[in-house]
Amino acid sequence: MSYEHVREVDPEVADALVGEVERQRDTLAMIASENHVSEAVLEAQGSALTNKYAEGYPGERYYAGCEYADEVEQLAIDRAKELWGAEHVNVQPHSGTQANQGVYYAVLDPGDKILSLDLEHGGHLSHGHPANFTGQFYEVEQYEVDPDTGYIDYDELREQAEEFDPDIIVSGYSAYPREVDFGAIQEAAEAVDAYHLADIAHITGLVAAGVHESPVGVADFVTGSTHKTIRAGRGGIIMCDEEYADDVNAAVFPGGQGGPLMHNIAGKAVGFREALEPAFEAYAAQTVDNAKALADQFRERGLELVSGGTDNHLVLIDLRPSHPDTTGKEVEAALEEVGVVLNANTVPGETRSAFNPSGIRAGTPGLTTRGFDEAATREVADVIADVVDAPDDADVKAEAAARVDDLTDEYTLYE
Ligand SMILES: *Cc1c(COP(=O)(O)O)cnc(C)c1O
Repeated sequence: MSYEHVREVDPEVADALVGEVERQRDTLAMIASENHVSEAVLEAQGSALTNKYAEGYPGERYYAGCEYADEVEQLAIDRAKELWGAEHVNVQPHSGTQANQGVYYAVLDPGDKILSLDLEHGGHLSHGHPANFTGQFYEVEQYEVDPDTGYIDYDELREQAEEFDPDIIVSGYSAYPREVDFGAIQEAAEAVDAYHLADIAHITGLVAAGVHESPVGVADFVTGSTHKTIRAGRGGIIMCDEEYADDVNAAVFPGGQGGPLMHNIAGKAVGFREALEPAFEAYAAQTVDNAKALADQFRERGLELVSGGTDNHLVLIDLRPSHPDTTGKEVEAALEEVGVVLNANTVPGETRSAFNPSGIRAGTPGLTTRGFDEAATREVADVIADVVDAPDDADVKAEAAARVDDLTDEYTLYE
């Protein structure tokens, strides 16, 4: 990845692009929503399809010259159907947030009611946060995880739904380490005659590989990001039954977007093809095994985990019981210095603020793409725990950085 054409035109950007590849090689990407796509996906995303206007859908475009755009989009759709088993798929949303927007716009009117998980408890901005359009156009009420267990209490959710009478219930989360019972949420939605949107942004890959329960065919709408565990490049996707196909398509284009990002859709097609290979199932299973190893080792080192552990690809540490004077931001910064890139995160019952929260979130999708097994992941857990114990100790950080260097040298990326 030398970016020679960019360099000829624009050395500053070329330096930044090369710098980013080196940053990814030399650090451990443990932001739970991130991953490393293959060079095949990168190439597809950097293709000449970026030039093509293809407003409309395969076979029904507003512009001439769409034969290859049609082929690529249809491949992406067909492969998504095979991966997740959906009746209808729209691969045009520019991101997971736009996918959610498409669903809301398809079935809600302004002022309709959304019931969703609170952001501090693991929800997402696009589920009704006041800073997002959803918090302004719709009436939003939020559910929370059980403060004692860290799990969603499905009985309580149902009671809350009966009281609030929402038009849509949103499930699927950004920082929830446990398996989601989509069937229970569907029952709550049906009990109050609400739609159910399952936003599987984080767990798309786990669901595709069958290592997490699937909401497809259960929830009315399933949305996702395509750059997280499914590893198909930046973008979004909507899945639903045929009965909602026309409404969803119209809500995405022309409802909320213009021309599709055909180069990104090419990336999705290639990434989905990779995910249909048997090796992807092993990848997804290893991602979960690694997260469990991470959680185990954290616990052994005296760290407290929200919900006590994990069923998926991420772990949420609540620093308050073990390190009451250390904040998530301090740990995030100290870990970045040693080459572990993760994020500070709010925890249920947050007592600090969203900007300087009490937790850190750590995910294994990126490490697993690099080939990490449980033993290597446990070593990373030790590095993190060492830094959590002494975020200001230069010797500890030097030792941690040396261990990260060894790991990034052994588990290579973009050779
Ligand atoms: C990541 C995420 C999204 C979408 O994010 P984009 O950045 O818009 O792709 C949506 N919902 C949840 C739950 C997420 O975690």
